[in-house]
Amino acid sequence: MDRCFTTPFVYALGTKNNIMGFLLGIGYEKLNFLHRFIGRVVLVTVNIHAMGYFYKWLLAKSFRESIASTENIAGLLSLICIDSLFFFSTAFWRKKFYNVFIATHVSSLTVLLFTLSFHLDKARGWIFACVVIYLFDLTLRIIKTRYAIATIRPLDELGLTRVEILKINSGWRAGQHVRLRIISSGMGLTGWIEIHPFTISSIADGPEGLVLHCKKAGEWTNKLFGLSKTSGSYEEDVKVTVLVEGPYGGLGNRIIASFSAAVFVVGGSGITFALSAIYDLVKKSSKKQSQVKFAELIWVVQDASSVVPLLAQLTGMIQDSVLTSMLLRISVYYTRASTGKFPNEESFLRFPSLTLSPGRPRMHSIFEQIIDRTIEEATTKKVSELEDTSGLFVGVCGPVSLADGVFSDVGRLDSRRRVEVGGIEVHEE
Ligand SMILES: Cc1cc2nc3c(=O)[nH]c(=O)nc-3n(C[C@H](O)[C@H](O)[C@H](O)COP(=O)(O)OP(=O)(O)OC[C@H]3O[C@@H](n4cnc5c(N)ncnc54)[C@H](O)[C@@H]3O)c2cc1C
Repeated sequence: MDRCFTTPFVYALGTKNNIMGFLLGIGYEKLNFLHRFIGRVVLVTVNIHAMGYFYKWLLAKSFRESIASTENIAGLLSLICIDSLFFFSTAFWRKKFYNVFIATHVSSLTVLLFTLSFHLDKARGWIFACVVIYLFDLTLRIIKTRYAIATIRPLDELGLTRVEILKINSGWRAGQHVRLRIISSGMGLTGWIEIHPFTISSIADGPEGLVLHCKKAGEWTNKLFGLSKTSGSYEEDVKVTVLVEGPYGGLGNRIIASFSAAVFVVGGSGITFALSAIYDLVKKSSKKQSQVKFAELIWVVQDASSVVPLLAQLTGMIQDSVLTSMLLRISVYYTRASTGKFPNEESFLRFPSLTLSPGRPRMHSIFEQIIDRTIEEATTKKVSELEDTSGLFVGVCGPVSLADGVFSDVGRLDSRRRVEVGGIEVHEE
């Protein structure tokens, strides 16, 4: 087989709309590890290939003449493209200078297609496949892009900007994300070029349309937050033109409503994932389309006042769930001494199922409790013991340490208890 056969795989796995994702029901972001793995294999083999030739030419004292041929100049340029792709995609560039990472990725991958076709005639078939894959992705991205006017509001306590797009109110599933572009001079000269992913925090066909919560993380999100504060008066909302691409990703083939219980463990702005998923469960439960009997939201924030902007939404969810067969509990944990406005105590006292506590949640015992309740419910309702338990879904979204902690706590659960509850599935967003 030709040496370049891996190239279309690297391109395909790096696109937002790839066939493998469609077939497996997995979002592009979850398949990205394969893009990186195959990319690294290409990097190593290409460098070994080049070093072999350099060594051979040096031994024969023909380096200058050999490298000067069109074929080998193209080979050298291909090597530079592949090495710079690797260099600029290391964690340092991705975390500190995401735009440099994207710009070098797109430019190197484009130049590589030309240089490779001059270096190796036989590669042209594979290069053609890469071009087709890329154009297919680009076309779908254009088709999946919607133009709309969004209302943006600052949520000071959470350091978030709430983006609300009323016009778009269907076409996604809980847990999916969209890629957002803001067309406004307020985002700076180049702000409109950038496109950023955000998880949808509202449900499809709901009254609010498509809602995103964008946390201040760097230059672009800070500019968005600043722009949302430019309104002259409190009542007047800031409106901006947006391009929304997607939806992408999400829970794939998992259907949370088919489990007996669900626990969402989220940190900070990870709440966006849990909001849409729980809204969805409440809606399905009210239509008797959900098997979930117990749902628990564990939200870890730094400051207790972070709850204030979302308090109405959280209490609203609890109120709506009361009319269904699903019992919803929300526990907010704050990890630092409160500096902001402390949440109104009355709002908390009104709902025993909404609690605010200092410290960190003890996840292991929370899982144990919910498993107990699920098994108890199944055994009291059915004579055919435990046949009704269809598993515990655990959704986690937040810092890596939070996700690692949840995985380890689930791992420590007794295997007999896992079987009794019908199995445990952890989804990391
Ligand atoms: C699938 C997905 C869903 C997300 N959902 C949410 C959400 O609901 N709410 C929320 O507040 N944040 C979410 N994020 C994170 C959000 O996309 C970044 O915080 C935002 O893009 C930062 O942009 P910036 O220029 O302000 O910050 P920067 O300083 O440029 O970057 C801060 C961090 O965000 C990463 N980042 C920057 N630009 C992008 C980009 N275009 N694509 C992916 N990562 C990027 C960088 O690697 C860096 O680690 C999500 C990210 C992903 C991948």
